[in-house]
Amino acid sequence: MSRRRRKEATETKRIAIERIEILLTKADVIYSDEPLLAIRYGERARKIAMKVKIQMPKKWRFRFCRKCKKFLYPGINAHVRIKAGTPSRVITYCELCHEGSRALVINK
Ligand SMILES: [Zn+2]
Repeated sequence: MSRRRRKEATETKRIAIERIEILLTKADVIYSDEPLLAIRYGERARKIAMKVKIQMPKKWRFRFCRKCKKFLYPGINAHVRIKAGTPSRVITYCELCHEGSRALVINK
């Protein structure tokens, strides 16, 4: 890849992250009023991340169901539990498919 192409690629990724950030922040705001639309925003954000081959920013990664890939909102269609132990974990359960969960390690 030439230097110019590489520069374009990083620029694309930067714009993609920016768009993901905007979409998901907006989804968070409208979630309680229009959950279906918010889920669609989440889907769109995930598609953008896949298209430019980037990982979802860590802030948002744990908000997606592992199984049905839907964007979740704790208190509406997800519940969050803290699992004690070493390391302790924060686990998000999806209420749409009743299966997906994702653990976030908080301390080691
Ligand atoms: Zn799910």
